[in-house]
Amino acid sequence: MGFEQVIGQDLIKKTLQKSLQQGQIAHAYLFSGPPGSGKKMLTRLFAQALNCTSLTEAPCGICLSCRKTISGNHPNLVHLSPQGATLKIEQVRDIQESLHYRTGEGRFKICFIQDADRLTLPAANSLLKILEEPPGDLVFILLSSRPWALLATVVSRCVHFSLKPLPADAIRGILQERFTLSPGEHEVIVELTAGNPGQAVEMAARGSCAEKYQEVQELVKELEQGPGGKLFSWAEEVSKRENLDETLDLLFIYYRERWLQRLSARGREAFRLENICRAVLQTKEELEGNVNRRLALETLFLMMRGVV
Ligand SMILES: [Zn+2]
Repeated sequence: MGFEQVIGQDLIKKTLQKSLQQGQIAHAYLFSGPPGSGKKMLTRLFAQALNCTSLTEAPCGICLSCRKTISGNHPNLVHLSPQGATLKIEQVRDIQESLHYRTGEGRFKICFIQDADRLTLPAANSLLKILEEPPGDLVFILLSSRPWALLATVVSRCVHFSLKPLPADAIRGILQERFTLSPGEHEVIVELTAGNPGQAVEMAARGSCAEKYQEVQELVKELEQGPGGKLFSWAEEVSKRENLDETLDLLFIYYRERWLQRLSARGREAFRLENICRAVLQTKEELEGNVNRRLALETLFLMMRGVV
């Protein structure tokens, strides 16, 4: 089982395969992309391929070295992840120490650094020092979902691969293959997870999507037809939600569906629904800035109710 296990990311897979084929391995790689984008699977396969004894450009998955890498027990594999909030200099120093020990197993010593954007300045500098004169068979694999927070000096030492969101059709394919979902649920997940396969699978597996969508439908019903006075308490409640962004995404999907149904009629209702869709998007944008969440939601909810 080679790189085809990772869906999409064709350019990255091709580049990795080519460098494996040509034996041109860099000392440090950075794989960036949001959580769930496939960084872990891709880098595990790369680590496998680096030490695979079948000597092909793809990991065989069955040799002893591959199996040890898959189970995380390869002696030449080191994992570094934040202790508390940060990756500390002591952790990088420990790595440096461990470089002196060789097991003779595998061609490369591979060091994974999870959440590399959390390296403290001294830790990053210590890492840079290793990278200035790296031992020939050492490969660092840095992973980050916030590559902008990495020091430029670290990034410049790495071959940087940025994982791209998958097209909606690829996500639909993954969901169809593994889950039985209603068409509505499918589209909600595709829309909410914006090309992120890990998040899409997680959301489908949790089965929480239909429930959340139902909740939003109830909220709309309450806001459009319930007692008007409750609108303000709803605004307050919703403004305190941690997943407010998700609620707004679901509201948008809900209104867009209604708008699409009414589109052919071209009546006032379609116009109203289109305006609400725009207002939801605008509220989302405003909330990224420093606005009062409750007031922004009150304005939106008043519009949904048809007051403004
Ligand atoms: Zn192998």
